Amino acid sequence: MDAAKIDQLRERVKGRVMVPTDEGYDEARSVFNGMIDKRPAVVVRAENAGDVVAAVNLAHETGVDLAVRGGGHSVPGFGTCDDGIVIDLSGMRGVQVDASAQTARAQGGATWGDFNDATYPFGLATTGGIISTTGVGGLTLGGGIGYLTRGFGLSLDNLVGADVVTADGRQMHATERENEDLFWALRGGSGNYGVVTSFEFALHPVKDIYGGPMFYELSDAEAVLKFYREYIADAPEEMGAFPAFQIAPPLPFIPEDRHGDTFIAIVACWAGPIERGEDAFKPFHDVAPVVAEHVGPAPYPAMNSAFDALYPPGQLQHYWKTSFVKELTDEAIDAHLQHGPQVPVVNSTVHIYPINGAAHRVAPDATAFAYRDANFATVIAGMWPDPSQNDANITWVRDYYDATAPHSEEGGYVNFMSGDDQGRIQANYRGNYERLVDVKRKYDPGNLFHLNQNIKP
Ligand SMILES: Cc1cc2nc3c(=O)[nH]c(=O)nc-3n(C[C@H](O)[C@H](O)[C@H](O)COP(=O)(O)OP(=O)(O)OC[C@H]3O[C@@H](n4cnc5c(N)ncnc54)[C@H](O)[C@@H]3O)c2cc1C
Repeated sequence: MDAAKIDQLRERVKGRVMVPTDEGYDEARSVFNGMIDKRPAVVVRAENAGDVVAAVNLAHETGVDLAVRGGGHSVPGFGTCDDGIVIDLSGMRGVQVDASAQTARAQGGATWGDFNDATYPFGLATTGGIISTTGVGGLTLGGGIGYLTRGFGLSLDNLVGADVVTADGRQMHATERENEDLFWALRGGSGNYGVVTSFEFALHPVKDIYGGPMFYELSDAEAVLKFYREYIADAPEEMGAFPAFQIAPPLPFIPEDRHGDTFIAIVACWAGPIERGEDAFKPFHDVAPVVAEHVGPAPYPAMNSAFDALYPPGQLQHYWKTSFVKELTDEAIDAHLQHGPQVPVVNSTVHIYPINGAAHRVAPDATAFAYRDANFATVIAGMWPDPSQNDANITWVRDYYDATAPHSEEGGYVNFMSGDDQGRIQANYRGNYERLVDVKRKYDPGNLFHLNQNIKP
């Protein structure tokens, strides 16, 4: 990009503007997935909505690629690009709570850790992801599945308003009553519709929870999965719980001679009255002998960051696949039993997240997130440290996905998809796809925001 344009941008922008020769550029161009190694022409670390407008306008004017980065967790690495402009929102992480209205406003680059830290002192929370380093931005715009989904819906179901910089450089407010079409598309349409500089969420009374992981022998995996599918269908909605195939990390609560062994685990979080937590966990203790567990009362933010250390930013290669699942049939369980125990490294995992309860009480066309009749979102999350092992790990993810796909829906959760899943976009949105295209034509006819699971205008 020519130097005069960069100088002009520096004059307009309050945050840092970094080009390849600047100190900090290498850190500024990197994202969570260590497999992604891209070199943008310029990174704009925005400090306010005006900075975002300046960067959007420059992208519009020059026609170069534009990447928008919230928390940077996108597995395909959508938060960076080669030769284009990156809007890095990590300088905009403020969260303001209105405790009496039970709402919070989060800036576009906040993480769930930032969010929880701000809301916890008021005994309030909303649905976020399973770990705390994920961005509020990308997670909410694609859906938002976490411990509180069964009780309070997806993250996007709790969104009540958004400030958005659209492709023409305007700032718009979107709610159920203002720019309703944009607000509808933002709730599930991922990063396709603009840069959200501020998200407003409804909050719920959640402070301390009862939760943690329980590890069972692989020989009990069939019993655990069959129990789980029955149990979670009508479990109390205060319970968020998912099964996982997991290699035991070297943690003190796991017997030392079992570190490195593969288990089936259930990770559960009871957000109801804390004194009922132990009782609520009884079914998990009855299903099979628990080899190791770390379960008990904890602040919600501690539960939400308990696994952060397993996923260090930039140090793991990521390749993921996902499907929505209506029924976890015996055949689907057989496919899991065949491939789950082959999980190759401690960081990799398979989670079968429940998306019933409150998430089912939203009509499929009320937001862009269409799969309201699916009971589960499965993610086969390949995450490994050594790039020389890429082929083996990617093969494990693909073989596992191929085995479960016949027992799953055609679509999968956009936030768990890989870069090679663009062909599934239409299936992911089902009957909402045409309306998403119409809204895209209205707000981004030139497809400026195309580095995402792209909805073409
Ligand atoms: C380790 C790990 C754990 C995860 N756990 C969960 C989980 O528990 N539940 C779950 O639902 N998902 C989870 N995810 C998936 C996650 O939701 C997606 O990766 C999501 O896209 C991440 O959002 P981000 O802001 O961190 O990522 P980014 O890479 O910054 O952004 C992802 C996409 O969203 C867009 N975007 C981000 N912020 C904004 C914004 N403010 N305005 C406009 N567009 C924006 C980007 O342009 C990009 O297209 C996890 C991912 C990882 C890597």
